[in-house]
Amino acid sequence: MVIPIGNIKVTCLDCGWHKVIYQPSDVVFLPKSCQKCKGVRLETQMLNTPQSLLQKLLKLWR
Ligand SMILES: [Zn+2]
Repeated sequence: MVIPIGNIKVTCLDCGWHKVIYQPSDVVFLPKSCQKCKGVRLETQMLNTPQSLLQKLLKLWR
């Protein structure tokens, strides 16, 4: 089953860098570190998906 995710916003907690990534399916591909400062403290926000679903997907992804 393909779950459409939509837009995911990734924010770096160290320098404030952020990027919105469009996810056309439930195959989650996210950066593991900040593209600006290489920090790994990234906050992931689903713009239109419930947080519970996001956590489930991230669990599978990790
Ligand atoms: Zn950063």
